Amino acid sequence: MSTFTSLNPADGQTVASFPVMDERSVHTVVEDARDAGRWWAQLGYAGRKSRLLKWRTVIASRMDELAGLMHREGGKPIDDAMLELTLAVEHIDWAAKHAARVLGRKAVSPGLLLSNYAASVRRVPYGVIGVIGPWNYPVFTPMGSIAYALAAGNAVVFKPSEFTPAVGQWIVESFGEVVPERPVLQLVTGYGETGAALCTSGVDKLAFTGSSVTGQKVMATCARSLTPVLVECGGKDVMIIDHDADIEAAAQAAVWGGMSNAGQTCIGTERVYAHAKVYDEVLDRISSIARGLVAGSGPDASYGPMTMPSQLDVIRRHVDDALARGGTATVGGPESVKDPYVEPVVLSGVPEDSAAVQEETFGPVLIVNKVADMDEAIERANATPFGLAAAVFSGTRGEEVVARLRCGMASINSVISFAGIPALPFGGVGASGFGRIHGEDGLREFARTQSVAKLRIPIPLVLTSFARKKWAVKLTAGAVRRRFRG
Ligand code: NAD
Repeated sequence: MSTFTSLNPADGQTVASFPVMDERSVHTVVEDARDAGRWWAQLGYAGRKSRLLKWRTVIASRMDELAGLMHREGGKPIDDAMLELTLAVEHIDWAAKHAARVLGRKAVSPGLLLSNYAASVRRVPYGVIGVIGPWNYPVFTPMGSIAYALAAGNAVVFKPSEFTPAVGQWIVESFGEVVPERPVLQLVTGYGETGAALCTSGVDKLAFTGSSVTGQKVMATCARSLTPVLVECGGKDVMIIDHDADIEAAAQAAVWGGMSNAGQTCIGTERVYAHAKVYDEVLDRISSIARGLVAGSGPDASYGPMTMPSQLDVIRRHVDDALARGGTATVGGPESVKDPYVEPVVLSGVPEDSAAVQEETFGPVLIVNKVADMDEAIERANATPFGLAAAVFSGTRGEEVVARLRCGMASINSVISFAGIPALPFGGVGASGFGRIHGEDGLREFARTQSVAKLRIPIPLVLTSFARKKWAVKLTAGAVRRRFRG
């Protein structure tokens, strides 16, 4: 089997080598997972909870080690890696503690017609879940599927990004330390073809996180076997700043939301729409904060290198196009787009139909455009194919503006804060995908619903039998007519 290597994006040094797994080997792993899944499911909620809580303790106690690996393999500053791990650990904890309550069998009312029945809803694990992950948040992002799928009682086969396989391996091996009996969480490594093989491997559901283009391919592949999918894709997230907002807080949040992790954040701020009354102040403040950022790999760096070299071309194209079409750069410009560190770029007055406004840039580039009022801000915010997350800074109208935004998540007077609240479902609309990780929805995503109607008290009024009596139908129809008469 051939191998591939992951490289430190800061210096090009090899971090680790892994096999490029083909269809046959992926299918073998999924076969092993099936038996492991049955064993894991029969542990029950309490058995799984205690293992998952042990796992979160192992990760929490070795966060330094994992953050160091994330820094080497993905390039992000150690502190950002630590923050990511903090959130991931919170999610394992939440999923483990809430699975029984959310997914446990629930009695429902049988209604008047079948009041002699007991009705209940069960949530049954799918069996084996395939998880395909990206590189930009190599722990937090796949954990939103892995932890919730495990808590729901499934085995998981995880295919990390080819840019961060060693981080993926660390996750899987640490789980194996607390669940050594069966291969409940397994790793498959390789490029896109390995991911495609996971889609056709017979997994019972596929949870994909990555770009919208790959999301379409994953859906098409899974469609052939009617394998259900959860699709978490890209975004073009917006921040709206009203005239009565706290401008300093908004500007700090915009720059952090847009440029932390070198802008390689699905829920990162890419567009800012500021009310005309405060626009100049917003642009000045954002520009001055952005000028103070340092791209690099040292301990004082604000953010690291571009993890994926090909992203440089996208960023360059967006900046060039925005400037060619009348936009202005208040910080940086085309010369900022260097390998491997892209310096901060702030653009203003960028046409709404330019690539920089319509497509995901995934770099430390912020567009700050002026709007006459909140109506215009909302209209522009909703005018891309994406709909992942949004932030609104406003003294009084935060809730009202958010209610009119076409997006899956929103923060008011903060940015990205929803991601740190495990009870909040995470996901998008439109080109940003569908389905939800995190929270109760995230647990339900990894369990099938089974409805049960159980005869409690036999009565002579049987309708679903060829032995039924005419009077029984007449009586029932009459009762319904009387009940719903206008
Ligand atoms: P990508 O789409 O290039 O790759 C994602 C994963 O899919 C990788 O593991 C890759 O090997 C695999 N893959 C590639 N081709 C495949 C195929 N044909 N079939 C199956 N799998 C295949 O994305 P990326 O560059 O790793 O990640 C960045 C993207 O992810 C951005 O668009 C970002 O917005 C998005 N993202 C979204 C979320 C979210 O929760 N919505 C979170 C993080 C990242």
